[in-house]
Amino acid sequence: MGWRCNGFLFVMGWRFIEFVFGSRGTNALYLAQYYCCDRPNPILQVLYLAIIGGTFYLIVYSTFNYIPGHYMGGYHRYTSLLAVGVGVILFLLTSFSDPGTINAENVFQYLSVYPYDNIIYSEKECSTCKILKPARSKHCSICDRCVARFDHHCGWMNNCIGEKNTLYFVLFLLWHFFLCVYGTIAIGLVLAGRLKELEVVYILTAYYGIENSFRSLAPHVVQWLINSYNTQILVMVFLAIVSLLLSGFFGYHFSLCISNTTTNETFKWEDYLGWQRKVKEAKASAEALKASLDDLSQETTKPQQSRWKKFFRRSRLEEDVEVVKNNIYDRGFFQNLYEIIYPLSSRHSFSSHKLKTG
Ligand SMILES: [Zn+2]
Ligand SMILES: [Zn+2]
Repeated sequence: MGWRCNGFLFVMGWRFIEFVFGSRGTNALYLAQYYCCDRPNPILQVLYLAIIGGTFYLIVYSTFNYIPGHYMGGYHRYTSLLAVGVGVILFLLTSFSDPGTINAENVFQYLSVYPYDNIIYSEKECSTCKILKPARSKHCSICDRCVARFDHHCGWMNNCIGEKNTLYFVLFLLWHFFLCVYGTIAIGLVLAGRLKELEVVYILTAYYGIENSFRSLAPHVVQWLINSYNTQILVMVFLAIVSLLLSGFFGYHFSLCISNTTTNETFKWEDYLGWQRKVKEAKASAEALKASLDDLSQETTKPQQSRWKKFFRRSRLEEDVEVVKNNIYDRGFFQNLYEIIYPLSSRHSFSSHKLKTG
């Protein structure tokens, strides 16, 4: 998300530094980029803890003195702490669990899990680790290791997302989505309770005239809320925006899980299908050219050729250009989900798990 925009800003920033500081500035930037983005580092992990801790602190500081309120039971003081705690535990599990690191000792175990499909994966050695690359694995250049069923390297977790921690990662996204929705609704209910307890609507009605409808009073109520509870409103807006982002991330990763595809594989399939489409288009246009040359040579002998025939021939050529994604690892909704919950390499008898082929 936003890669293109980030890339543009990055290039502009880079040019600015080069212009102002010369090569010394860009060398320092190269070094900073190396330690910040190309090596494992905990900057984003610390940032996550600061955001979740800071937001919860703001809520406790600004809102807890209104709990229990008219619409909120006193137990929300404890359930909110519990919900944040579970979120942090999921974060720690994703960050510090083994994503499925492959080494010389366990490579044969991982090799037996997924067969090579010979489309996007074929038997190959990792040039860095000097071991066979099991199907669906990838060498993470940041962590400098091969990871089974590699999804992506997550900067927030400072860890790869692979075969053994995809479940924690997806649960992390889902839990934080619910956490943000919970926070938004809870603060909304606290503010609604304040309106009720302070009889704000009643007072504003009296002030602006009894004949005013709810619709004409609403802007005054909103204005009063913004004036009196600006911290809570800001936190609410922040949580609502983050919950929307998280719903998108969770939806994307859940759809990958149920189709048994990794983020890394979506790139591979894109490349493969793009290449296939080009080859087929070239083939189809060559055939079309040959057909039209044949038509031209036959025109002298057979001038009355059916237009329908030409039409159908053309449409048949267009159909040929269709390319298909044949994902042999997709074993159906429930099996795919079960594979995320209970990774194949963790099961004892690999031979009993046969994947559909071709
Ligand atoms: Zn490797
Ligand atoms: Zn990594």
